[in-house]
Amino acid sequence: MFKRRKTRTVKVGRVIIGSSAPIVIQSMTKTPTTDIARCVRQINQLAQAGCGLVRLAVPTRLDTAAFAKIVRKVSVPLIADIHFSTNRALEAIEAGAAKVRLNPGNIKSRESIHRIIDAAKMHKTAIRIGINEASIRDLKKQNIAPQKRIALMLKEMKKYVRLFENRSFTQLVLSAKSSDASRTIEINRCIAETFDYPIHLGLTHAGLPEDARIPSAIALGTLLAEGIGDTIRVSAAGNPLVETKIAKQILIALGLYERSTPELIVCPTCARAEIDVVRLARRVEKALRGIDKPLRIAVMGCIVNGPGEAADADLGICAAKNKAYFYRNGRKISTVPENKIIQALLKELQNL
Ligand code: SF4
Repeated sequence: MFKRRKTRTVKVGRVIIGSSAPIVIQSMTKTPTTDIARCVRQINQLAQAGCGLVRLAVPTRLDTAAFAKIVRKVSVPLIADIHFSTNRALEAIEAGAAKVRLNPGNIKSRESIHRIIDAAKMHKTAIRIGINEASIRDLKKQNIAPQKRIALMLKEMKKYVRLFENRSFTQLVLSAKSSDASRTIEINRCIAETFDYPIHLGLTHAGLPEDARIPSAIALGTLLAEGIGDTIRVSAAGNPLVETKIAKQILIALGLYERSTPELIVCPTCARAEIDVVRLARRVEKALRGIDKPLRIAVMGCIVNGPGEAADADLGICAAKNKAYFYRNGRKISTVPENKIIQALLKELQNL
């Protein structure tokens, strides 16, 4: 539906990023990297939830040693997140990282970058140049106008990319993150105009899940609708499965991700509702858990607008006083007493 921006393609392990390849969801582990068993469990949960790539922080030598073991225990390609240490980047590449993320604000020496590039070339490791607005020295001062901030981020990106291109390294993914949604949109538009490398989208330090959801949806959704963005990560404090769920919801809303589980449509309710619609919807949601078919199930509060609104659902439940009418593909198929709705739903699901 949206015309994707044409980019180079970059191979991250077995995952292709860029051009017409599907947009890849990624997240980060939130367990200590040295706790191998918990990391592996979380990585597998993330992969099962829809992450095509998983990133791990490797701040110490012990972390890269653990990373080397984790790589061998999971099937999803792993990314090592490097901040200050060239040695960590080299160790992670040796350990089997499919990609390393470098922050230009933190690794600056030409010699260090050349060492990393040479190791990445040898091991066929991709590199993400990940600029964070907060880690660029000139942007740490306050009162810098937004346009100036964007210009400085772009300048930093150009300078860094040039170092890689001058050494004939093009397996690059670019990202520029801010905690501000509008600046994230603007800087990524500039990067998309300037370079033909795939872009990783995300906000940085987006907040608690309830606060991160809307700014992330606006920033990532706007860019994706413009065809910009080849891999996304929603940042939210806490469980990374929540990040993955929000990322998936953004892609699904734009028609960029094929749903494999049921979609629950619920009317907003109004004074016409004759039962507790939210309670019923929660019970239906629970009944749908574990079903891996892209069904559309609608729960409507009344028969005034309910049947019409549920017409394009595989199954519509329109509540009335003490009962519900079941609709399949817009046609009424049964009348069910209120206390039998979930039982009837489970039976209907077997036929869908
Ligand atoms: S389906 Fe009925 S109860 Fe629900 S919002 Fe529409 S009119 Fe109101």
